[in-house]
Amino acid sequence: MNYEKTRQTVLEAILEAVDKGLINGTSGNICMRTPEDPTICCITPSGISYSGMTAEDIAVVKMHEDGKNEWIEGNFKPSSELPMHSEVLRRRPEINATVHTHSMNATICAMGENPELRPITPPQCEFTPVKIVGFTMPGSNEVADKVATTLGDKGLVCLIKNHGMFSCGENMKQAMHATIYTEEMAQTTVIAKTLGTYEPMPREAEEAMQELIAADKAV
Ligand SMILES: [Zn+2]
Repeated sequence: MNYEKTRQTVLEAILEAVDKGLINGTSGNICMRTPEDPTICCITPSGISYSGMTAEDIAVVKMHEDGKNEWIEGNFKPSSELPMHSEVLRRRPEINATVHTHSMNATICAMGENPELRPITPPQCEFTPVKIVGFTMPGSNEVADKVATTLGDKGLVCLIKNHGMFSCGENMKQAMHATIYTEEMAQTTVIAKTLGTYEPMPREAEEAMQELIAADKAV
């Protein structure tokens, strides 16, 4: 099997996401660029239950320069949401792992007239600001473009209205942390707003925390 290590990493990540309740049924998908070839990525397959899945079931895709994606290996065809993942990998060479979920609280926080998601605890500041993308048909090139444009040069997470969230990172660990902390941020926000006790971190504290995180990473 080619790209075994990357396919195994994608498989372990999707099982962890299912285990943590971030993904139900066959919703959500995870993708990772291979270290062997930056134009090749491995992504969870379309419409297949994640329990009992093996590394061979993870689809291998060649991301061509003209924007086309070619399924080159794997027992099942790639997730229909591949364009979102490949567009971010194309535009951001430093990003190697991408995660998309329909996690409940993140989805709730993308609704309403002026949706916003702010950090509640210091570790969440690594992944903010979290911007919101308006609804666009899943699997389309349009949603792929909107997500990649909204993330911009530095963004790690965005929410997609009436759909879910999209996270990315330099490696799978960072992309998974982005997903877990964003859902945690969203869950805390939903409960605190329900109780009437919502109080996100002050902007100055968020910025100070981000400087600390950046300095620690630079060491
Ligand atoms: Zn989706």
